[in-house]
Amino acid sequence: MQATTHETLARRVRGTVLDGQDPQAAAEVAAFNRAVTHHPAVVVAARDADDVAEAVRYAAAQGLPVAVQATGHGASRPVDAGLLVTTRAMQGVHIDPVARRARVEAGVRWRSVIDAAAPHGLAPLSGSSSGVGVVGYTTGGGMGHLARRHGFAADLVRSVDLVTADGARRTVSPDSDPDLFWAVRGGQSAFGLVTALEFDLVPVPEFAGGAMIFRADDAPRVLHAWSAWAPTLPEEVTTSVAILRLPAVPEVPAPLRGVVSLAVRFSHHGPAERVAGLVAPMRRVATPVLDSIGPMPYAAVDAIHMDPTDPMPAVARGGLLGSLPEAAVETLLTVAGPGVDVPLAVVELRLMGGALGRPAPVPNAVAGREGAFSVSVVAPAPPPLAEVASALAGGVVEALAPWSTGTTLVNFGGDRSTLARAWAPDVLARLRAVKAAVDPGDVFGGPLGTPDAVPAAVSPLVPAGAR
Ligand SMILES: Cc1cc2nc3c(=O)[nH]c(=O)nc-3n(C[C@H](O)[C@H](O)[C@H](O)COP(=O)(O)OP(=O)(O)OC[C@H]3O[C@@H](n4cnc5c(N)ncnc54)[C@H](O)[C@@H]3O)c2cc1C
Repeated sequence: MQATTHETLARRVRGTVLDGQDPQAAAEVAAFNRAVTHHPAVVVAARDADDVAEAVRYAAAQGLPVAVQATGHGASRPVDAGLLVTTRAMQGVHIDPVARRARVEAGVRWRSVIDAAAPHGLAPLSGSSSGVGVVGYTTGGGMGHLARRHGFAADLVRSVDLVTADGARRTVSPDSDPDLFWAVRGGQSAFGLVTALEFDLVPVPEFAGGAMIFRADDAPRVLHAWSAWAPTLPEEVTTSVAILRLPAVPEVPAPLRGVVSLAVRFSHHGPAERVAGLVAPMRRVATPVLDSIGPMPYAAVDAIHMDPTDPMPAVARGGLLGSLPEAAVETLLTVAGPGVDVPLAVVELRLMGGALGRPAPVPNAVAGREGAFSVSVVAPAPPPLAEVASALAGGVVEALAPWSTGTTLVNFGGDRSTLARAWAPDVLARLRAVKAAVDPGDVFGGPLGTPDAVPAAVSPLVPAGAR
C-alpha cells in the first residue's frame, strides 16, 4: 500500500522518489554534518519547483511533515519521519550583470554564484565557505565577508519562489505578500520550501583578504589586541578571530595542523593601498607564523577562513555579545584559551556592526542585528562523544552570558531547541503569526511551531546507534 502510494508520487515528479528504507536513500540524504543521519519515511530528490510542489501536496495528503536539505551544512537534528525533499539537483544559476542580480535554484552552493558573478566584477554576500547552500544560508540571515558594508545576505533578496503548505507555488515579493516576504528572509524554512531566490549582487572592483596565524603562546595578547582593534575598523572591513584546535591530518593547512593556534581573519572591500595601514596594529602585536593578508580576487575568499571542505561530524553552538570588554576576553581565555585542554575545533568571535546593525532596505525577520560580536563554537562530535561535545560548546557560550544580548544568529544558533530564542520577542511573535497564517498545520515544523520542544528521541545528541 505504502509502496503503491510512493509509485503514484514517483509518476508525478521528474526527480527520484525513494522509500526511506531504500539503500540509495542513505546516500541521497547524507548531510555534510556527519553527526546527523537522517531516516525519513520517503525522500524526494527534486529536479524542479513542480517536483517540490508535488512532494508537498503528497505529504499534506498523507499527513507527513516535510523537511528539506540542500547540503547538510546546517543539519543539527535528524529527520526521523515524514518526507525529506533534497534539492541537490536544482542547480540553475542566472546572472543579470546589468541589473546586478542573481537568480538561483534551491540546491545551489555559493561557489556557483561566486564563479558566475566574478567575470562581471560582481559578488554575492557569501560567507566563510563557498560549499554552503545559498538558500539555507540566506533564509537564516547570512553573515559573510562583505557584511559590515552591505548587511546580511537576506537584506539583498528581491523575491522568493516558494511552495507553501497548501502545495501552491508562489513568488513572494514586497508587493505580492509583504508579511511572508518579511518572514521568509530570516525565519528560514518554517514558512515553505524555497525553490528559487532572486537577490542583488554587489560590485567588488578591489578586494583583499587573508589570515594571520599566531602561535598559542601569543594568543592571549593577540586576542586582547583584536578586541580593542576590531571595533575601530571601517565598515569596508570584516574581521574575526578564532582559537583553533585542528587535527594533525593532511587536509588541515600546515601551520594549523595538530596544534592550538589563533587566527585573525580579515577582509577589505576597497582600495588595496589602505590594507597595510589597517592591519598594521595587529602585525605589531606578535609575529604570525603565517600572514596571507593581501589583495585577492573575491573568488578566492575561501582562503580567509580555510573552513573544512570534507564532511565531518560536528556540534555547533552560538550566541551574540553586546560588547567585548577585557573581562569577556579573559573569560573566554579561561574556558577555551590555549592553556585549556578542551576538544573544541573552533572558538570564534566575529565583529558585527555597520550595515549588520541597520534595518534592511525592505525590513525582514533576520535575527541578531543588535549584536556587536557573534560567538560560535564548533566541537568535533563523532556519535559516542556528541553529548559531551555539545555540553562543552554550549559551556563556552554560557560562560560569556554576562555580555550576551540573549539572542543569536539563526545560522550559528546550533540546535533547533534553542533557536526560538534567536529573535527578539516582538520579531518572534510576528513570525509566529505569519507561520500560523501560512502553515497552520505545521507541515514544515521549525522552531516557530513548537516552542522549545525537542523530544529526546529526535535529539541530534542521541548517538545514531542508540536510535
Ligand atoms: C563550514 C561552514 C561555514 C559556514 N559559514 C557561515 C557564514 O560565514 N555565515 C553564515 O551566516 N552562516 C555560515 N554557516 C552556517 C550556514 O549558513 C547554515 O548552516 C545554513 O543553514 C546552511 O545551509 P545549507 O543549505 O548549506 O545546509 P542544509 O543543512 O542543507 O540546510 C540547512 C537548513 O536550511 C533550510 N533550507 C535549506 N534549503 C531550503 C529550502 N529550499 N527551503 C527552505 N529552507 C531551506 C532548512 O531549514 C535546512 O534545515 C556555515 C556553516 C558551515 C558548516
